Amino acid sequence: MKSQAVKSQAVNGDAYGAAGTLVVIGAGPKALAVAAKARVMADLGLPAPRVVIVDQHAVGGNWLPTGGWTDGRHRLGTSPEKDLGFPYRGAPHRTHAAQINAGMLEYSWMAFLVAHQTYTDWIDRGRPNPHHHVWARYLEWVAAESGVDVRIGTVETVRLADGGGWTVGFRTHDGTVETIDGDGLLVTGPGSSDEPLLDDPRVLSVSSFWNAVSRRAIPSSSRAAVIGGGETAASALDELVRHEVMSISVISPAPTIYTRGESYFENSVFSDPTGWSSLPAAERRDVIRRTDRGVFSVSVQENLLADDRINHLRGRVTGARRTGESVTLTLDNPGCLATEHGFDLVVDATGGRPLWFLDLFDAETLDEMELAIGARPDLKNLEDAIGHDLAVSGLPAPLYLPNLAGFAQGPGFPNLSCLGELSNRVLRSAVDRSAVAGSAARVGAI
Ligand SMILES: Cc1cc2nc3c(=O)[nH]c(=O)nc-3n(C[C@H](O)[C@H](O)[C@H](O)COP(=O)(O)OP(=O)(O)OC[C@H]3O[C@@H](n4cnc5c(N)ncnc54)[C@H](O)[C@@H]3O)c2cc1C
Repeated sequence: MKSQAVKSQAVNGDAYGAAGTLVVIGAGPKALAVAAKARVMADLGLPAPRVVIVDQHAVGGNWLPTGGWTDGRHRLGTSPEKDLGFPYRGAPHRTHAAQINAGMLEYSWMAFLVAHQTYTDWIDRGRPNPHHHVWARYLEWVAAESGVDVRIGTVETVRLADGGGWTVGFRTHDGTVETIDGDGLLVTGPGSSDEPLLDDPRVLSVSSFWNAVSRRAIPSSSRAAVIGGGETAASALDELVRHEVMSISVISPAPTIYTRGESYFENSVFSDPTGWSSLPAAERRDVIRRTDRGVFSVSVQENLLADDRINHLRGRVTGARRTGESVTLTLDNPGCLATEHGFDLVVDATGGRPLWFLDLFDAETLDEMELAIGARPDLKNLEDAIGHDLAVSGLPAPLYLPNLAGFAQGPGFPNLSCLGELSNRVLRSAVDRSAVAGSAARVGAI
């Protein structure tokens, strides 16, 4: 009964959009976490931004074969109970935290299973991590339930508008170019996965790897390499072991492939970033190195690394060239001479380009960013400039970059570890900024 009342209030209420418009690039978990919570807030009559999401493929596009990061048939590395509301603590409006978190339970993983009558089965099967395509279906369901405005198109241009705010231009599938104006902009996702290390049929980008998997066209190989030590590499490895491959070297710069620490203490830093920013920089980097970068989850280690075809090669790949029938990779290790290794199949699974979205920004906007952070907007300078609200500090309109917030604000923000806290921070900022803008406008009018 209660949820019915809340839903009809949403349809008729006008709190949605009372805190401006938030444009989101990418309809993945971060976008849906923010959109669902904005809907819950508006349902409760609390000011919330209108959320408009633009995605080039579909809701959950990167968890489906079309996104180029998976074939959809591999499993999430983390528990789906770390869903869009997790950790269900705090809220954008602190006085209404209990109601907002209760409202978010309606968009939880459990609610999705109950709605599809698969909850009992999931529990009885031991609560398995879902396949990527099922995770995408969860996101689609949340998009439909929350009624968020999703536009399908590829964002091609982003600029700071003269009067404040952002103008985002995107091309729809029929070639039409449309624009959306927003008070804030949230950028999600890792960018594209289709840039090959070397233009050679034996060297596959992540996207061409999954494309070959779907066409059943992975060539047999006597010596394969997977470059990278994160989730992208783990998924590729999980697939490659099912093909005709005699040996697979996993190449990463760390001395070994670490197992992700998944004890209470390590997990809690991801779920609850309180106090993270007061840790010394060296300690924060150490935690990220041990728990996030170049680590495979316990389940991947258990499932794959018992396979004696898999070995680890330490080094950073600095070169790739054709040598007869194989591809030679150059590996650098600090303090050692570079080494060369030949392979007949290479999968470049190093992940996306963290600054991919800067290609969309016009020159004036890039200049504004440089002015705002007082330095060139490279990876380190941008990571250092991410504030508590997950936005780049000092810009006239908020640019939320949770994927770059790991170092400054908490290691869970770039991934699925604390989507509820991510949405709290973004929405609190959107509401506070619109309240400040509103009172400034009122003062100006006097
Ligand atoms: C194979 C794989 C498995 C992973 N498994 C886990 C896991 O188990 N647990 C975990 O915590 N993390 C995992 N990750 C990391 C994961 O990427 C992040 O945790 C999380 O999905 C990122 O969510 P997001 O909302 O930022 O973006 P995404 O889910 O990546 O969504 C980004 C969206 O942006 C769209 N897009 C891209 N460019 C444009 C454009 N120009 N215009 C419009 N739309 C665009 C894409 O179509 C996509 O739908 C995994 C990553 C990969 C690659």
